[in-house]
Amino acid sequence: MIRLTISGLIFFYTLFSAVIILIIWIIFGYKEMKKFSRKDITYIWKCSVCSHSYVDSGFEDLSVCPLCGSYNKREVVG
Ligand SMILES: [Zn+2]
Repeated sequence: MIRLTISGLIFFYTLFSAVIILIIWIIFGYKEMKKFSRKDITYIWKCSVCSHSYVDSGFEDLSVCPLCGSYNKREVVG
């Protein structure tokens, strides 16, 4: 029979908990990373009216210029 001491039991319990937390952390971190990288897509816009270049995140084909307030079509996908 395997002899288990209290310190050995605590060691294995801690190790087991750490491994489980690490696995959960990696899975959730991967999910968050995927979500973040998908949300982080930014578009570089160039205003057709005042030719001001700006960055706006979103999936819309239209964006409002922060300088003159006119609507612009998407030109460059970053
Ligand atoms: Zn503009």
